[in-house]
Amino acid sequence: AIKLGTPDEITRSVCAYCGVGCEIEIGVKEQKIVGVHPAKNALVNKGHLCVKGRYAWEYMYAGDRITQPMIRYAGKWKKASWDEAIKYCAERLTSISKKHGADSISIIGSARATNEDNYCIQKFARAVIGTNNVDNCARVCHQPTAKAMSMVLGMGASTNSFDDIERAKTILVAGADTTESHPVVGARIKQAAIKGANLIVIDPRRTELAEYATFHLQLKPGTNIPLFHAMAHVIVSEKLHNEEFIINRTEGWDEFKKFIAEWTPERAAKICGVHPRLIRESARLFAQKSPSMCFHGLGLTEHTQGTENVMALITIALLTGNIGKEGAGINPLRGQNNVQGSAVMGCDPAVYTGMASVKTERKRFEELWKTYLPATRGLTLPEMLDAAVAGDLKAMWIIGYDVFFTMPNSKHTKEAFDMLDFIIVQDMFMNETAKKFADVFLPCASSFEKAGTFMNAERRIQKVRAAVSRPQEVKADWEVVCIMAAAMKKKELFNFSSAQDIWNEIRDTWSAAYGITYERLDNNGIQWPCPTTDHPGTTILHTETFPREGGRAKLSIIEFCPTTEQVTPAYPFILITGRTLYHFNAGNMTYRTANKDICPADLLHLNPKDANIIGLQDGDTARVVSKYGEASLTVCIDKSLNKGEAFSTFNDARVFINKITSPLRDKYVQTPEYKITAVRIEKCSA
Ligand code: SF4
Repeated sequence: AIKLGTPDEITRSVCAYCGVGCEIEIGVKEQKIVGVHPAKNALVNKGHLCVKGRYAWEYMYAGDRITQPMIRYAGKWKKASWDEAIKYCAERLTSISKKHGADSISIIGSARATNEDNYCIQKFARAVIGTNNVDNCARVCHQPTAKAMSMVLGMGASTNSFDDIERAKTILVAGADTTESHPVVGARIKQAAIKGANLIVIDPRRTELAEYATFHLQLKPGTNIPLFHAMAHVIVSEKLHNEEFIINRTEGWDEFKKFIAEWTPERAAKICGVHPRLIRESARLFAQKSPSMCFHGLGLTEHTQGTENVMALITIALLTGNIGKEGAGINPLRGQNNVQGSAVMGCDPAVYTGMASVKTERKRFEELWKTYLPATRGLTLPEMLDAAVAGDLKAMWIIGYDVFFTMPNSKHTKEAFDMLDFIIVQDMFMNETAKKFADVFLPCASSFEKAGTFMNAERRIQKVRAAVSRPQEVKADWEVVCIMAAAMKKKELFNFSSAQDIWNEIRDTWSAAYGITYERLDNNGIQWPCPTTDHPGTTILHTETFPREGGRAKLSIIEFCPTTEQVTPAYPFILITGRTLYHFNAGNMTYRTANKDICPADLLHLNPKDANIIGLQDGDTARVVSKYGEASLTVCIDKSLNKGEAFSTFNDARVFINKITSPLRDKYVQTPEYKITAVRIEKCSA
């Protein structure tokens, strides 16, 4: 563990990385952070931090941090004052809007920024620019979850709390390598399994968590729906379903019963590759040893049927009455610390703050903000890139997000950025998007240098506190938005002097957070809904009714439509991309910490038999080629993979795995299918 030594001061705050939202104590000596410890009495992490969180501050002191605004003139970056940079941006945005219309501009919020930052970002897009073209990185991760949960249950948020892990008798983890991606929650799940909870792991790879599982269902990539349907079939055909819950709290039972009768485990096994006996036993365990709690990650969402994968999982929970009670529920593991928050704040083309629909709640927001708001739904991030290629989108302001590095099939992203007239990147570092495409770079504060709140994966609003002062020419994201609004003659809509001011406006727009005052957040945070200042917060959703018309959840009938990204003789492997314990997303932060010494590069994981056939050994360099591009990676022989499947992490800018990933998208919300790309693998000559 890192020792805090004898710091002058200790400040409590929240980890800058994943959606578990571990609370930390930051040790500061002579105005510099000297170490990070877990906050001992934190409800979420209970005295633990993972290896990411322990080093999650060193990047702040990286020598290449940008601490002054920059403008690129004729291909050359020049330092600028804030006045100069903001005036330049405001004039360019105003002139583009006048010439091409407000919808020729788009803004991307940040899942690493606070709720207050994101509230200002979406308000700026709508009230200053006049467009609903605002999105955030949930688009490439859990937007299918939000969509599925809101269609089926009426609300796109985790139903239960992490504390229910210890109350569940059975835990089902689908498409989530928790050891690598959400280590503190992963450790709690492992502990629960060691103490006797049943554990079902659904994953194409034999993850570390699978070693603790009662059953590991090692399905073929992209076949979650047949597997879930077969489990539902067993539950219904063996009369293990909860008749009372189904009759009283769901709709569509008669149609569902007919539909699911055909999805026998034998039929599903031919598609998903899991033995029918394993499917039967897992379904029985889930139904009979309850309460049963579901966790899922991007292994469900990043598919062409990502939304429907989540709907099919929810169905199993509904059939067995495992929603609305302790130790149960549907619990998405959110990737970035504030990805839930940036979406709930309204960085979404179809919803305002508090998930209020643009279609139905425009008038209310016009009255609240005292300004005209655009009526039509905006573009999602993938649609923005398409619109840029088509010449319809002209400018993007990207806050805390490396879009070029992150989006699949980077050829398409490059084509889009090459077409844009004006790009602002706001970040701590010259990320890949900024380096190659930005016209203006605006330097922003890290979460150790500003106040605000984050929202973790279990709906907990947590207080972020400044531990150190920021470099002189660096601003909090919300401050940049406010001065940009003033420069564009809308100062009156952004009269905020602190993050708390903004939070109070958020409380006025979103009734489920009204009861959460800054004063109440001093310990452990509060889970919304929390409608009044004496409300304790809500640990479990949907205990009595579902927030849908009629108050019932929907049993969904979902046809399985296999992805068109299939292996061929020319591309005989399926490449899956995913996370590692040592790095975080675009790697901009973790590659500037001690984590890069532990894990210096993205690796290509290959089954030993496949590696042998290709003539590859550990440490060799392989060329991975898809229909979209090629990348070179160091080989790591890995028995956890099935034959014909390969795995790579996506954090290393030198590898840039998204040069080769598939451009296919979820049909409801356009989340990319990062989990399936057909590739061929070749040995690189020395
Ligand atoms: Fe940070 Fe997530 Fe690790 Fe907790 S589990 S320390 S929130 S990265």
